[in-house]
Amino acid sequence: MSWAIKVYTAERWGNTVPCPLRLVVNTYHSCQHKCGYCYVWSLKESVTSRSGFRKALLHDIERGKQYGISSFAVEMSASTDPLQPMEKDLGESLFAIKELLGNGFKVLIVTKNPALLLDKDYCWLLKEPNLSVDVTATSLREGSAEGSILNNNGPSAKEKIKTIKTLIDQGKQVRARIDPVVPSVKNFRGQSEEDLKELVGELAKAGVKLVISKTMRLCRGMPKPVVEAYYDYYKSNGQLLGANYILAADIRRKMLSPIYEACLKNNIRFCPCCDVDVFAGDRISTCSVEGETALLNRDIML
Ligand code: SF4
Repeated sequence: MSWAIKVYTAERWGNTVPCPLRLVVNTYHSCQHKCGYCYVWSLKESVTSRSGFRKALLHDIERGKQYGISSFAVEMSASTDPLQPMEKDLGESLFAIKELLGNGFKVLIVTKNPALLLDKDYCWLLKEPNLSVDVTATSLREGSAEGSILNNNGPSAKEKIKTIKTLIDQGKQVRARIDPVVPSVKNFRGQSEEDLKELVGELAKAGVKLVISKTMRLCRGMPKPVVEAYYDYYKSNGQLLGANYILAADIRRKMLSPIYEACLKNNIRFCPCCDVDVFAGDRISTCSVEGETALLNRDIML
């Protein structure tokens, strides 16, 4: 492999996480959405395409085929939004998705800009059985004056839910990510129990059948005001895991329980992602996409 296709690394979250062994392609450096809680853009404010990306991707696809891993799912993208506004002009993600699908890989798009999939250059993707779509929406307040740390430059949660419904009506199943769930500390207001329940209810009405969710990890690369506001809280109420602070199990369970309960009530599956440890014995699912390898990320860590 060179650098265009990488193995998704979840080891920093601990060796109990249920993440499938997955490949990842990041088509851009940084992200125009600038979510309040995200380290990606705060470490690198200028957003660019990646020099030599297309050539490196084609090289990695050929290598992947030689090593027999072309049936693995490739997540687009773990460290940026593949459908952020600049994609419309540059098309790096469209190029990558087309090449990956054409060579037998499964592709999972994780985005806050699902409306681009309705564009004339992208809508053919909706017919591709090996393409899965996850849309992230953290709160119905997102995109409003009350959005606080949940705000970003992308479409509001209400707009995204409307698009999710359109996509589902057109026959493409869409999964939702309520990620991260953020505690309220000092001036920053995360989701309340009611916010989360209301959001799951709206996602259910749009036709979503799986919600994936985890609590916010705190890392030093996040925007400085966020680190300053949350550091003492995470230090006193959590533990350092790798380079990130995670909150104590009882707090994480409390933060995610409204989503879990609302999913049960609305007959939606729920995946607690890296917070699986606090849902032992509960009715939870994984985020695996159809037909992807049964190998887990942790299988190659041990
Ligand atoms: S869309 Fe994703 S990568 Fe982009 S700023 Fe938000 S959390 Fe970060």
